[in-house]
Amino acid sequence: MSTISSTSRNNAALATAAASSTPSLPTATLSKGAKGPAVKQLQSALVKLGHMTQAQMNTGPGIFGPQTEASLKKYQAANKLTADGVFGPKTRAEMLKDLTPAKPAPTPGKPSGVTAPPAGLERGSTGAAVKQLQTALVKLGHMTQAQMNTGPGIYGPATEAAVKKFQSQWKLGVDGEYGPKTKAAMDKALAGQKPPTSTPTTPTTPTTPGTPTGGVKKPDMKWVPSANFSSRGGADIDAIVLHHTASNNEAGDLATLTKKGTDVSAHYLIGQDGTIYHLVDDKMAAWHAGVSSLHGDKSPSVNARSLGIEITNDGSGKTPFTEAQYKALEKLVPYLAKTYDIPMKNIVGHKDVAPGRKVDPASNFNWDRIRRATDAVI
Ligand SMILES: [Zn+2]
Repeated sequence: MSTISSTSRNNAALATAAASSTPSLPTATLSKGAKGPAVKQLQSALVKLGHMTQAQMNTGPGIFGPQTEASLKKYQAANKLTADGVFGPKTRAEMLKDLTPAKPAPTPGKPSGVTAPPAGLERGSTGAAVKQLQTALVKLGHMTQAQMNTGPGIYGPATEAAVKKFQSQWKLGVDGEYGPKTKAAMDKALAGQKPPTSTPTTPTTPTTPGTPTGGVKKPDMKWVPSANFSSRGGADIDAIVLHHTASNNEAGDLATLTKKGTDVSAHYLIGQDGTIYHLVDDKMAAWHAGVSSLHGDKSPSVNARSLGIEITNDGSGKTPFTEAQYKALEKLVPYLAKTYDIPMKNIVGHKDVAPGRKVDPASNFNWDRIRRATDAVI
């Protein structure tokens, strides 16, 4: 033993632990102060069972120190054994059960048996493949078993909503259809992979939604990225909230809505000359609505589900919103409503989602123009 270098012994132990699904357990009773290969066997088992990290083991492989004792106590406590930190016959028997392939240690993120069906399903599809998809959605937490039970094998609204949630989480195009990209992501999810992190970073270019069906053109806009936004947390866009900035200073509004630290933003700002500034990527949540609710719904939050549009205006009710601003809004609101399939009732003012707290847009704002333009396309 003493002739084998500690490095090669470590490597041997690692190789053994990795290759063998049932690391053998020492037969001797072991406690703090013990040393040697038997202790290493025990440590490998504790690593395998998730009560010790490989890094912890590497600080003293083959030495039963405080770390090994603490890990063993954790294992004992988790298995309703006397947590005395001594590796005796009872602990050994329990550990042996946990290490046998018949009862494998749970491998996180690798649910057995559930696989994603072949791509090519959409609302209206029925059959075994849909059921397989629903089972996967249940497994991944996007659908409840109860929801699935209302129509197993039928791709209805609940299934579509669940697919959309999944697509949003995986940063895919959110169309509610189960195509090749969604299938590929679902394969990854079912294999235990995590969705791409939603760490908000200021994108260099905003997401440009495709031209919506119906041919509503995307209006010209200037991308001036704001530092203030966060993830939508999986919520779908289904509302538009209009605001006035309470100032007639376009440059000041632009600074306030984009600078880090102000903690306010909107997706769009409409300047007095009708310039549309795009400040926050549509797929992210902007911080414009505050404490609010949409038709009484507090969850998802209004920020999570909406697009916010600020209009430069002092909000006095006397300063007219400019013709150029109306013209810009008559293009932007219908375009967004069409692109995101937003119903008219969800095109609202800040005062509608925060009544008593907010009054914007001011009473002289002509909603009719916006509604008429939107009505023409949705
Ligand atoms: Zn507002």
